[in-house]
Amino acid sequence: MIHKIASKIGMKKLRDVYRPGHLAVSIELFPPKTASGEHSLYEHVGKLVEYHPDFVTCTYGAGGSTRDKTLEIVRQIKLRFGIPVASHLTVVGSTVDQLRDYLRRAQAGGIDFVVALRGDPPQGQSSFVATAGGLRHANELVELIGREFPGFGIAVAGYPEKHSEAVSFDSDLLHLKNKVDAGADVVLTQLFFDNRDFFQFRDRCAALGIGVPIVPGILPVTNLKQIQRIASLCGSKIPGKFINDLSRSDLPQWQMQVGIEFALNQVHELIQQGVLGLHFYVLNQSQAMLAILEGLQIRSSRTA
Ligand code: FAD
Repeated sequence: MIHKIASKIGMKKLRDVYRPGHLAVSIELFPPKTASGEHSLYEHVGKLVEYHPDFVTCTYGAGGSTRDKTLEIVRQIKLRFGIPVASHLTVVGSTVDQLRDYLRRAQAGGIDFVVALRGDPPQGQSSFVATAGGLRHANELVELIGREFPGFGIAVAGYPEKHSEAVSFDSDLLHLKNKVDAGADVVLTQLFFDNRDFFQFRDRCAALGIGVPIVPGILPVTNLKQIQRIASLCGSKIPGKFINDLSRSDLPQWQMQVGIEFALNQVHELIQQGVLGLHFYVLNQSQAMLAILEGLQIRSSRTA
């Protein structure tokens, strides 16, 4: 169902999304592999947009494997639902000319923001290898976008528990500062389950002079197996009590309810501690996310 026509919206500034007195909500999706997955994705998005998320993002498959699909999904979401969209973009497997080509097409497609990343290596490759004629790190991509495509708002990735390859927390933070100094408007964090990691990370960013919003990445957990797989991929610790609570029953409804309650508690504390936004990894589902948005009474507080 087409809610609004995208052309009425125009490009929004990412910095304006994060402002005092407004809790910005962004929702991250990934490109489905099948036509039925895509159909169901738009159905879920249709339910989520009732809560007025500030923007929706779509990931860019490892090694650029979903390049065209990513662009198509964000373009379609903007067209069908009339909300701002961000395309993730990684440097993996692309020359600078290929990155430019993607950015040109994204610009022509009315994409508002770019989540600028180095990216994970393609499947079967254990470490990142720079492409000949390409870039090495996300800060170089931020520079390229800022220099040649200044109309895009830029988000970058931050790691409350440190990036797995970083030699130290301090060096990781310095590299994050480079990305912000290169022109990033906001830092979206890797998912985490212990808010203390986020608060320490945010304090350390502030101490280094990183002045852009640091937006926590939240995974609404729907089952134990899923959280264990995802956390092992991105290196996030899962609190023992959360695992115990999830393990108490195999019933899907039980596990989803525990996940929703955990996310609600996590998010309430983050809001109390002054975050300007929340970035949700919804994994192309809406049930848990809708319960969380409802629990936060986001519908009433955001449309008032
Ligand atoms: P970088 O910022 O380049 O950092 C990578 C590593 O190099 C870090 O250890 C850093 O400390 C170090 N480093 C950074 N800059 C320099 C420098 N100039 N010199 C030396 N060392 C440096 N992956 C995907 O494939 N597709 C996606 O769509 C995607 N979306 C994501 C969205 C979010 C919000 C987050 C948090 C992550 C996402 N990822 C995605 C995962 C991300 O690509 C990986 O974590 C990747 O390993 C690092 O990407 P980065 O942009 O943080 O890289």
